Amino acid sequence: MNITRRVTFRIYPSKAQAQKLSYWRAMHKELYNAALYQRKTEYQKFGEVGFGIIGGFLTYKVAEAGGFYLELPTQSLKPTQRCAKCWELTPKTLADRTHVCSNSNCKHEEDRDVNAAQVNIIWARGQELACSDAELPIPTSCPSMKQMGAKKRQKHRPCDPSWAG
Ligand SMILES: [Zn+2]
Repeated sequence: MNITRRVTFRIYPSKAQAQKLSYWRAMHKELYNAALYQRKTEYQKFGEVGFGIIGGFLTYKVAEAGGFYLELPTQSLKPTQRCAKCWELTPKTLADRTHVCSNSNCKHEEDRDVNAAQVNIIWARGQELACSDAELPIPTSCPSMKQMGAKKRQKHRPCDPSWAG
């Protein structure tokens, strides 16, 4: 049986205490309304509460540490389905916790999350190495590649963007 008991205290604050309580209540109201307003406008802007805020914080924090914030096109990249070794897609359900590559020439086996993280890193490094002569395969199907190239050129070492044209 579930018993819920409610206890109500009646307090008799002094005038100074009453003023303080009233002030705190007003501050709580302000804070609540400010948070509500922020969530509402964020939702209207980004369609997903909180994401814009987090992205903003990350951009700022990573820039402070000398890096840059990179958002992966996960809908086209499909990191949980892609093989970190051969880049082939192997459909999985959430229950499949191990990546076993469907490419018969590869058959790469790895923990699902580790493989996905590797795919993300490879993709990100593809962007990273776009300015150098490194021979890592550079994914060509990502839509934001030019944007990233432009972003990197602003912030980091100069490079020749002519190949990307
Ligand atoms: Zn593979």
